[in-house]
Amino acid sequence: DSDSGSRPRRDYLRIEGVTRRFDDTLAVDGVSLAIAEREIFALLGSSGCGKTTLLRMLAGLEAPDAGRIVLDGEDLAAVPAYRRPTNMMFQSYALFPHLTVEQNVAFGLWQERPRLARAEVAARVAAMLELVQMQRYARRKPHELSGGQQQRVALARSLAKEPKLLLLDEPLAALDKKIRQRTQLELVNLIERVGVTCILVTHDQEEAMTMAGRIGVMNEGRLLQVGTPGEIYETPNCRFTAEFVGETNLFRGRVDGGALHCEDFPAPILLPADADPDDGGEAWLSVRPERVALSRAGAAPAGAGCNAAVGEVAEIAYLGSHSVYHVRLANGRIVIASVASAQWRDAAPPTWGDAVRVAWFAPDGVVLTR
Ligand code: ATP
Repeated sequence: DSDSGSRPRRDYLRIEGVTRRFDDTLAVDGVSLAIAEREIFALLGSSGCGKTTLLRMLAGLEAPDAGRIVLDGEDLAAVPAYRRPTNMMFQSYALFPHLTVEQNVAFGLWQERPRLARAEVAARVAAMLELVQMQRYARRKPHELSGGQQQRVALARSLAKEPKLLLLDEPLAALDKKIRQRTQLELVNLIERVGVTCILVTHDQEEAMTMAGRIGVMNEGRLLQVGTPGEIYETPNCRFTAEFVGETNLFRGRVDGGALHCEDFPAPILLPADADPDDGGEAWLSVRPERVALSRAGAAPAGAGCNAAVGEVAEIAYLGSHSVYHVRLANGRIVIASVASAQWRDAAPPTWGDAVRVAWFAPDGVVLTR
């Protein structure tokens, strides 16, 4: 942030040991998290992991059984939903079908206390519609808009009340893939221009990575890892994150003398030097497919410091910029390699049944102990 005069506070929102149980389901299990002012943060997890429940507790639609939520120095426990400085935007946008675009955006403003003057409401609505570039549609009804336009109106409505915290629950789920990708960037741009702190809930890892500065990975009510998209992808801290965010090759084995002894790999696997798992313990190694080099089995073998094995091509998915190869080793184990199409400029790419070698540098693996 270049604006040194107003440095964003790093713990603008503090979630401290928040827990929520429904009957025998621990929906949210002791989640602690600090979010900076003006940050865009994504809660990422599959269906049922508790991300929506956490969001609803921030909005005041659900009360925690334990823990505290502090926003901008204020403990929210005693603040009812309608008085919270938060605004939640849902999947379905929930625009009122009988109201025009501008009436929809103005809707929440009429309930502000102290009351806003009519001119003030009109000015804020106009500013918001300009922000999302929907001025031209001010008199239309929601059914006369595209999905992307409805989404922008819903955002304008959420921002009109100038919330301290914007909560987005799968905001783009209703859009088709192509529009969704464009809208992700548009939305980030808008949120950054407004400068509102934002928490986004999604099960879509690409969406989380595209939109958020940091991601929190959730599973079974727990927050497993928090980090930038790069940190989460490159250095997952557990098997769940490694497999949930992107594709990976996981090798399970016993650690002995700095190597992983693994039943489904032909040789002890060299581990990165900085990983120091206990000898004799069980561990997993995660190797991203794009870290796995693929060559013809007859080519010069991989150099020192590499883990390598020979197998045959079992499957290929050609994706334009790259291809994903499934290579079956002699023992049946599949190793996935993602290979840039540019690699085959001077030679034909290997095809089904060809004998190939997969190899990766030891430092490119990530050791996981849980
Ligand atoms: P989705 O993406 O499908 O919305 P989620 O990650 O947002 O999933 P939550 O909606 O937070 O998950 O639900 C977490 C767990 O709590 C689930 O097992 C769910 O069945 C349960 N749960 C949520 N709300 C209630 C409720 N009102 N009553 C009972 N159980 C609930």
